[in-house]
Amino acid sequence: MKIFNTYSRQLEEFVPRMAGQARMYTCGPTVYNYAHIGNFRAYMFEDLLRRQLRAAGFRVTQVMNLTDVDDKTIRGARQAGVSLNDFTGTFKKAFFEDLAILQIEPAEHYPAATDHVPEMIALIAKLIEAGHAYQSDDRSVYYRVKTFADYGRLAHLDMSGLQSSGRVSQDEYDKESVGDFAVWKAWDEADGEVVWDSPWGRGRPGWHIECSAMSIKHLGESFDLHTGGVDNIFPHHENEIAQSEGATGCKPFVRYWMHCGYLVVDGAKMSKSMGNFYTLRDLMARGYTGREIRYVLLTAQYRQQLNFTFAALDGARASLARVDEFRGRLVERASGAAAGAAPEWVVKRLTAFQDAMAEDLNTPVGLAALFDLITDGNRAMDQRAVDAGAAGAAVAALDRMDAILGVLAAPEAKPDTEAEALLAARTKARAERNWAEADRIRAALAAKGWDVRDSAEGVKLKPRHA
Ligand code: AMP
Ligand code: ZN
Repeated sequence: MKIFNTYSRQLEEFVPRMAGQARMYTCGPTVYNYAHIGNFRAYMFEDLLRRQLRAAGFRVTQVMNLTDVDDKTIRGARQAGVSLNDFTGTFKKAFFEDLAILQIEPAEHYPAATDHVPEMIALIAKLIEAGHAYQSDDRSVYYRVKTFADYGRLAHLDMSGLQSSGRVSQDEYDKESVGDFAVWKAWDEADGEVVWDSPWGRGRPGWHIECSAMSIKHLGESFDLHTGGVDNIFPHHENEIAQSEGATGCKPFVRYWMHCGYLVVDGAKMSKSMGNFYTLRDLMARGYTGREIRYVLLTAQYRQQLNFTFAALDGARASLARVDEFRGRLVERASGAAAGAAPEWVVKRLTAFQDAMAEDLNTPVGLAALFDLITDGNRAMDQRAVDAGAAGAAVAALDRMDAILGVLAAPEAKPDTEAEALLAARTKARAERNWAEADRIRAALAAKGWDVRDSAEGVKLKPRHA
């Protein structure tokens, strides 16, 4: 499969360091608030990447960090009057709930920054020893950017015009050079009780060093893929490279850097600071489902800007209804028979889909292939040219597409506890041969939107419309 490497600004064949394995690090959320759907665009792109890598036969090890100590989390905890842990705990929990709602597959590891401070301290010590970092008069430790010859390679920076990164300590007068960035921030009053001991005095790690330490710990000093949004390229990822390669004696840190474009609203990046954001919860409160939101996030190729609109969400609803209707028609036609040989129209559209996804995750072309499959399939069924085996093969093709898209199968609605209790009561009534009571309960369930289905696997509740 081919991917666009930010290093080279070119499409490159993906060749991992270890045959058959894809090892990737994705910069995760800063857990000081609910993530907005702009953030989820990045996590969705990474989910798509891991699903495509798996479909291409690679064993994926994905690490996504949780930034649970930085300026924003500390400020948030202070304002809320709770401990940093309690404050970030709420948003960590919400984040995992949101991932599940969007059908984003879990990563293999979710390291939290606060659990890795000793590793960060060890990395900083190495940098100081190698002359890449220094402690200044303000007690903070800075990376000496001029010691890293490759600095600016990822962002294609003209180093003569390099400005301060903006995420450093407020007081910048103690740095040797304006581009130097903090790897260890000396404690100040605003940090309150958020503090660790270090060889350089009390303080806390800088944001960039967190990702270098956690990626090296969980993936080793060199690995395959590192991802984020384009705003991560500079300074965050540039600084990660300088730190990681500086500490390991210039071992290549990452082979492929991949970055997704922005989700925008009226031409402006969706962001907390602009106030033009929607969380997943905001959209669900307006009646949209995780599936519809996921679909919208698939409609643009990940490197393109994606303009968020409610019209797009309504469009997603209509598109998914078409998918569901098509699948329902096929399932009925297949009537439980085993999938037969795939007819030509299935092979053609599935191949087009797979080629599109293998070419830098081209979802718009992939979705076009899906709707071509639907058009072809509906026409063939109208002409009574689809037997049970062919219908089964078409369903199997949908499932293969869905292994990557994660949006084509309508999620099973889950009965609530009241419905489950009614079902148990019905089972008991039947065991006691109290048919009238069993029928009464069945009607009560129907009124709540549930059908009772007796199958070989036992008695189950199905939503009435399914
Ligand atoms: P943050 O919590 O700000 O560090 O952002 C988490 C991730 O979301 C990073 O990979 C960002 O690049 C990404 N991100 C933030 N805003 C947007 C946006 N509007 N569109 C796409 N990605 C974004
Ligand atoms: Zn990071």
